[in-house]
Amino acid sequence: MEAYEPKTLLDAIKYFADPDNCLRYLVAKRWPNGVTCPTCGCQDVIFLANQRRWKCRNQHSQRQFSVKVGTVMEDSPIGLDKWLTAMWQIVNCKNGISSYEVHRAIGVTQKTAWFLDHRIRFALGLESEGKLSGHVEADETFIGGKARNMHKAVHARRIKGTGGKDKTAVMGILERGGKVRTIVVPNRKKSALQAEVRKHVEVGSALYTDALQSYNGLNEFQHQVIDHAEKYVEGNVHTNGMENFWSLLKRGLHGTYVSVEPFHLFRYLDEQMYRYNNRKMDDGERFSMAVSQIVGKRLTWNVLTGKSGSEAVN
Ligand SMILES: [Zn+2]
Repeated sequence: MEAYEPKTLLDAIKYFADPDNCLRYLVAKRWPNGVTCPTCGCQDVIFLANQRRWKCRNQHSQRQFSVKVGTVMEDSPIGLDKWLTAMWQIVNCKNGISSYEVHRAIGVTQKTAWFLDHRIRFALGLESEGKLSGHVEADETFIGGKARNMHKAVHARRIKGTGGKDKTAVMGILERGGKVRTIVVPNRKKSALQAEVRKHVEVGSALYTDALQSYNGLNEFQHQVIDHAEKYVEGNVHTNGMENFWSLLKRGLHGTYVSVEPFHLFRYLDEQMYRYNNRKMDDGERFSMAVSQIVGKRLTWNVLTGKSGSEAVN
């Protein structure tokens, strides 16, 4: 069954105002071949229309299930209309969106909006498969360090914990014409950076970096260096793709988020990566794919965060 696909935010808000439409949409994304029991995997299920749940005919525990079970929405009392609207905003807002904006737009508390945001961002971060190849740029940057925007206690803790250094090192690796990956790294030393290059780049690829010493010795790649002290481009040899990505990222971070704790930084990176890597899609397509990704994998918040207990959302 082919579901209706909204094309604009207004379409989405109107369509998802009806709970049956939300359910129809999510069911088509999650179970394109028919509703399946998340516990035993069979399709012999009865729809309980007044509860918008299903009941499995097989004998086992947890026979009743909703479309949320086994997804990042599990255990969340937030309505599907709000989840879907928040997803639309997060995947389509170019400069990022804060939980404050989500809170105002869909009428939930800011804390709830924060949980929605983080669950959605988390689910979007899980797409890096295989290695990058062809022409690949690697670069690093530092994020953070605006102490004046910080709450006093956070500031004190950071200064103490990091010995006065208040920036997080992030590495980016980009396949030209393809995808970008970002990784929070402990520092810019050779061991940290080279391990990531080897993990994410196909041996034999053309690799472009700046003249940072840490990149010396990546001999299994066709490694070429641009020394930014001399110039920024030498034919094919440059890291302009990464530079552009960093400026997009930083515009989003500084323009939208009040402050980003280093612990949460990777989630914002995931969100920006998702938008960059799917930049050729229109808003409707990007949303549709995001929802498939969010509900199509059996990933709950607890699995994603490695937590065993369940977490209150409201
Ligand atoms: Zn079952």
